[in-house]
Amino acid sequence: MSANLFNVEDTIILVSGGSRGIGFAMAEAFAEQGAQVIITGRNEDALIEACESSENFRYPITYRICDVASEAVINACVEDVVAEHGRIDTLINSAGINKRMPAVEYTADEFDQIMHINLRGAFLMSQAVGKVMIKQGSGNQINIDSLSTHMPLTQILPYAMSKAGLSNMTRGLALEWGKHGVRVNAIAPGFILTDLTQKMWANENMLAWHKVTTPLERMGQVDDLVGTAIFLASAGSAFITGQIIRVDGGATAGTHWPIAGNFDVTHNT
Ligand code: NAP
Repeated sequence: MSANLFNVEDTIILVSGGSRGIGFAMAEAFAEQGAQVIITGRNEDALIEACESSENFRYPITYRICDVASEAVINACVEDVVAEHGRIDTLINSAGINKRMPAVEYTADEFDQIMHINLRGAFLMSQAVGKVMIKQGSGNQINIDSLSTHMPLTQILPYAMSKAGLSNMTRGLALEWGKHGVRVNAIAPGFILTDLTQKMWANENMLAWHKVTTPLERMGQVDDLVGTAIFLASAGSAFITGQIIRVDGGATAGTHWPIAGNFDVTHNT
């Protein structure tokens, strides 16, 4: 009975923001498992290159150009995927951007751009695919949230605000769509080495800080996230919806004291 619990073979997976980083790692993993994967992004060359890695899979990965900044483009993309594949079983919302600076320095345009892609874009993509899933009476949506979903980090406040919004979107859509057989969950990754973050992690102080704050004492890799994504897209998680699963090496489990070794601060009177 448990043999097929995590089987995603022949399912149709749409990965928004799948040309590189976390989205691409997930796309590749699903394709390796025999799923039919369609990745999206803005840059066609990057999409073509990403698809090339899957030429030997049962279903090579295919792509659509889709900028989540545009509602019309999203709707056309989803319509096109359904016209070709007949259905969408899983949507992974990974398209996202960030800009790091103190809160006082963001311009209104910079704030809007982050919200526009990370929150509005994810919502419109979820909505367009949600309509398809409601009609077919089944489906999974997986949003890529963040460590800053639960606790804002300094110098990325609009990003943290967008991700906090995404977590409420996850729970809210799960509430509305459960009765249609559509599950909506999120993965909140910790610090993962990708194009989005590599400049930051080239700094030695940052790496030392990361080691202290992450119990598993290593940087997350994109492959660390794919098991959870496959789990959330499969029958193994059939009774899970509206949840944000933290895959962060324990970074949000608690806080360390800033000094090493044993110490006694008991006040004896
Ligand atoms: P990445 O390597 O920069 O990849 C981002 C992907 O999103 C690319 O495929 C990019 O393709 C696409 N994208 C960006 N803007 C888009 C738009 N307007 N429309 C459609 N696609 C767009 O980033 P990543 O590190 O993999 O991050 C992926 C997701 O994970 C993001 O939502 C991020 O917030 C989240 N996350 C990352 C980390 C981390 O440590 N890396 C941690 C927590 C959460 P194009 O540029 O060609 O459009």
